[in-house]
Amino acid sequence: MLAHKAEEEGVAVAEIIAGKSGHVNYAIIPGVIYTDPEVAGVGLTEADAQAKGIEVRVGKFNIAGNGRAIASDATTGIVKVVADAKTDKVLGVQIVARGASEMIASACAHMEYGGSAEDIARTCFAHPTVSESFKEAAMAVSKTSIHSL
Ligand SMILES: Cc1cc2nc3c(=O)[nH]c(=O)nc-3n(C[C@H](O)[C@H](O)[C@H](O)COP(=O)(O)OP(=O)(O)OC[C@H]3O[C@@H](n4cnc5c(N)ncnc54)[C@H](O)[C@@H]3O)c2cc1C
Repeated sequence: MLAHKAEEEGVAVAEIIAGKSGHVNYAIIPGVIYTDPEVAGVGLTEADAQAKGIEVRVGKFNIAGNGRAIASDATTGIVKVVADAKTDKVLGVQIVARGASEMIASACAHMEYGGSAEDIARTCFAHPTVSESFKEAAMAVSKTSIHSL
């Protein structure tokens, strides 16, 4: 029920027909609600993980603590990073923010490479961008967020 999922499936079918190994990672398909603020998510929510019996650590960052959001008068929202408690691997990211549909892409990329919350926390994000909220939420997984309110 998503255009980008259908596109990935189309590419996979074409690759399989061409004798290559077509592949779609259904665990990492982002979903977006195009409201203001936007809502975007990928992977497991905290509740999904709990239902599967996976112990998680969660980092949250309130968009109101982000400089670009303040300057843009768009301070409503939150970023939440759900990481495996044992390995720190990111299992899911949920975002409510203006620009969430753009920000979720870097979450998908980190998750495709099997990245940890610490990997995101140690990645340099340009300032001032709303995307810094994603880094701060990842830092919050280990309670090291700098700009949290
Ligand atoms: C109004 C609307 C808004 C949407 N907005 C978004 C959005 O903002 N973001 C998003 O991610 N997704 C959106 N979607 C969903 C997205 O469009 C679909 O998930 C996606 O197009 C599905 O692609 P598909 O290739 O699987 O199927 P389709 O795009 O439906 O393609 C199937 C094709 O098969 C053809 N076909 C059917 N039966 C046969 C047959 N027997 N023989 C030959 N051909 C046949 C059809 O004519 C069609 O061309 C929206 C959908 C709608 C209806």
